[in-house]
Amino acid sequence: MQFRDLEKQYQVLKKDIDMAISKVLNEANFISGRQVNQIEESLANYVGVKHCITCANGTDALLIALMAWGIKQGDCVFVPDFTFFASAEVVSAMGATPVFVDVDKDTFNISTQSLEKAIEVVLKENKLNPKVIITVDLFGQPANYPEIKKIAEKYNLLILEDGAQGFGGKIGDKKACSFGDISATSFFPAKPLGCYGDGGAIFTDNTEIAELIRSLAVHGKGSDKYDNVRIGMNSRLDTIQAAILKVKLEAFKNYELARVNHVANLYSEKLKNIVKTPYVIDEFYSSWAQYTIQLENKQKRDDLQKFLKNNNIPSMIYYAKPMHLQKAFETNKNNIVDLSVTEKLCDTVISLPMHPYMTEDEIVSIVSVLDKYFNI
Ligand SMILES: *Cc1c(COP(=O)(O)O)cnc(C)c1O
Repeated sequence: MQFRDLEKQYQVLKKDIDMAISKVLNEANFISGRQVNQIEESLANYVGVKHCITCANGTDALLIALMAWGIKQGDCVFVPDFTFFASAEVVSAMGATPVFVDVDKDTFNISTQSLEKAIEVVLKENKLNPKVIITVDLFGQPANYPEIKKIAEKYNLLILEDGAQGFGGKIGDKKACSFGDISATSFFPAKPLGCYGDGGAIFTDNTEIAELIRSLAVHGKGSDKYDNVRIGMNSRLDTIQAAILKVKLEAFKNYELARVNHVANLYSEKLKNIVKTPYVIDEFYSSWAQYTIQLENKQKRDDLQKFLKNNNIPSMIYYAKPMHLQKAFETNKNNIVDLSVTEKLCDTVISLPMHPYMTEDEIVSIVSVLDKYFNI
């Protein structure tokens, strides 16, 4: 059994993917081929925003967004404490200061109470300029944008949606990667929509910002690549990856997203009486980047992981360490609010195998092992 079965997915899509790759090889347009424009158009249409600019990976997508806004030393950016390193890494990379915010114990996403508290403290300290809230759609569920937008408006802050795990999620009819002033996603192979290498995309409705982002992603180009009007970077999606994504996006839209939701529902139905299952807010829809349960304490969590391993069931701990305890942030961070929910989650969460090609038999066998563990 695999945690996320990319081999099975390839077997299902093999004919179309092989053909798409072979076309790129024959046309030899490896950088900025027509497939790149095509996938940008399809992604923008799917998400429901005016502009999609692809780039080399999800980290670059976040970084370029901060570059477009001119985030610099002295600025502060609010980031959830419970996330993948890159969400906050980009803030420090720009010379700005990440301020870590605690998360909600049920959704794992940024806590609006903790966020407002952090903003108030920063304003009172009067040392940093609050500029941006980076919201993370953790494990596939959109952050609580209706509430977050009120706070952003009240304090005049920009929202950068880190939708690396959120692609395909929704609140009502509105799709993930449309909630930020700028939104970013990743096509790392194991993400909800993955390619066969690194890839990323940036979304926005703001035409001026979109043009700036296009320039930043290609060496700060002006009228062309050899007219350089600002310092940018080299961050592009390869044509081969764009061609692969075209096939994968169709499968994602047509059945994969529905399948992961079916898998999640089966899990939750069967597990609801034995362990704390993930909570999805009413009207919210998750793309299930992870299916994450919570144990009572670290001992029980670690024991369960061993037990699963002994029964040949892969599992992962996302995430074992809060951002504010990462050594990399030792000299560049501003800890001003209580982060105890994140600390507890890092000790108690465990993610189970989750992907669109899981069979009901596999789910039943995982549940029976969990059943055994909880009934010893
Ligand atoms: C994966 C991930 C990223 C970074 O994406 P890459 O494509 O690996 O650079 C950023 N934020 C979150 C929350 C992620 O899960």
